[in-house]
Amino acid sequence: TAPELIRNFCIIAHIDHGKSTLADRMLQLTGVVQARDARAQYLDRMDIERERGITIKSQAVRMPWAVQDDAAGDGSLTPYALNMIDTPGHVDFTYEVSRSLAACEGAVLLVDAAQGIEAQTLANLYLAMEGDLEIIPVLNKIDLPAAQPEKYAEELANLVGGDPADVLRVSGKTGEGVEVLIDRIVRDVPAPVGDPDAPARAMIFDSVYDTYRGVVTYVRAVDGNLSPRERIQMMSTKATHELLEIGVISPEPHKTNGLGVGEVGYLITGVKDVRQSKVGDTVTSAHKPATQALGGYDDPRPMVFSGLYPIDGSDYPVLRDALDKLKLNDAALNYEPETSVALGFGFRVGFLGLLHLEIVRERLEREFDLDLISTAPNVVYDVTLEDGTDVKVTNPSEFPGGKIKEVREPVVKATILTPSEFVGTVMGLCTDRRGTMHGMDYLSEDRVELRYTLPLAEIVFDFFDQLKSRTRGYASLDYEPQGDQSANLVKVDILLQGDQVDAFSAIVHKDAAYDYGVRMTAKLKELIPRQQFEVPIQAAVGARVIARETVRAMRKDVLAKCYGGDISRKRKLLEKQKEGKKRMKNIGSVEVPKEAFISALSSD
Ligand code: GDP
Ligand code: MG
Repeated sequence: TAPELIRNFCIIAHIDHGKSTLADRMLQLTGVVQARDARAQYLDRMDIERERGITIKSQAVRMPWAVQDDAAGDGSLTPYALNMIDTPGHVDFTYEVSRSLAACEGAVLLVDAAQGIEAQTLANLYLAMEGDLEIIPVLNKIDLPAAQPEKYAEELANLVGGDPADVLRVSGKTGEGVEVLIDRIVRDVPAPVGDPDAPARAMIFDSVYDTYRGVVTYVRAVDGNLSPRERIQMMSTKATHELLEIGVISPEPHKTNGLGVGEVGYLITGVKDVRQSKVGDTVTSAHKPATQALGGYDDPRPMVFSGLYPIDGSDYPVLRDALDKLKLNDAALNYEPETSVALGFGFRVGFLGLLHLEIVRERLEREFDLDLISTAPNVVYDVTLEDGTDVKVTNPSEFPGGKIKEVREPVVKATILTPSEFVGTVMGLCTDRRGTMHGMDYLSEDRVELRYTLPLAEIVFDFFDQLKSRTRGYASLDYEPQGDQSANLVKVDILLQGDQVDAFSAIVHKDAAYDYGVRMTAKLKELIPRQQFEVPIQAAVGARVIARETVRAMRKDVLAKCYGGDISRKRKLLEKQKEGKKRMKNIGSVEVPKEAFISALSSD
């Protein structure tokens, strides 16, 4: 297709404002998906996406659309090719959004007509503006009785500049206004520009591993042309591969004779290792390579770490293999082996946020049939010792014990949008979480934008849930990294009979240390079975004990239950006890069932 007839666009929106539903409707209206094949959230291919109703991975689909050619004046139709990239809306997946944006010239900014602008509407809009995309503001869900299109068209027009009358109104659900929107995309989104005669350059914006086809690489062609059977080169590594197949997705893969300027499609080289096909890299032709790579993307940096352990220790190799496979499809995933006294062999895994953690864990359990336990998540701390040495701590049990000069923790710039009646509540929550306020603006009479600096550690746990429950679900949150700050943080250790249980160490603010200690010791007391001797459970900061509980000694052994006589019953009991012992972990001389750790670490 000639570049003048191509339009590359994405849909950006706050979560739940209806991107995936609108995408479905467009697929149907353009005839790419027949009504009888349509299933909700067609592009959300992972089961987990469909069940949770969220989009995790970006997807790109090509759709044909014919528009009447006004210049010709004879009613003839001009066929366009639209490439639509559906993007995720959650903060954890911002890096997926910026990749999709780099492959587009335009963005449909979708806003729920019953909700108005939310925090991620703003965040995504700013990303699109930085990428110089043409923005098409659209109100969605106008079929809802609660929709207030007049009010929010004005809000949206104020935000992007322009007339409220130019804000399109659609319903992804009923299809109303969607054809007009597609026409508007053709009219307003600029055609891609590139040099068809220059050496080929295509940007990799995603790559996935397919069991049958090996690595499938998604690209946006910028210059030149890539064709099947030619040798291609990855510009960052200079590695060359033969192009076995090239094509477009519409909505299933279709082979084509090549990809030219502005086109979006996929490449297959038969390579099995996704690391050969790095997102952000530029693909060029091996016999006539380009000299300058296209600007790539920053590698996403993990913000939250957690230990992942198989509940059955013999699953460790399966877990390692599963992580390797997931990593191919999820550039943000980072991991290295770790061992824990309590939990055995596992991995310390870096995530973008808590939702990312949950999703990775769920995918591992589901797609690889693993049972896993994850330790309490923590952020990365920078510790400077008195002697000037710097230590990066991604695991609380590695927090240095020596003389500490300073501990620095990551902070984020948070934007919270809330109805004005909840401003006081939201400010209270942010203060509790050690936030500093930087500003407050009224977007309209009844909606307020609050800006805070907050420690990331305070956000990663239940901040979002708290925010939602305290504002009856009305507030929304977005945040981005904003460097770090010095803080009064301490490590709380949990000791069983004087021995430290590594999986329970936590780095907390000094003022919260006591609470953590009391909570963990109480919880463990419930979970640890009585032993032949008394077991003290202590929480300590350095050498100072801040909380203590005791598991009292057991008085009788198991056999005391059988009054003499029945020898086979006794044997059974002894065997059962032995069985149980296998699953016991020894912390010093204390035997603790693995299940106890697991339930103590499970979220409460
Ligand atoms: P996404 O998170 O932006 O991809 O949003 P979804 O497309 O998953 O939609 C979120 C929810 O809003 C789902 O329950 C949809 O059925 C609903 N929804 C989406 N578009 C419309 C619409 O135009 N009208 C109505 N009434 N509901 C919609
Ligand atoms: Mg979606």
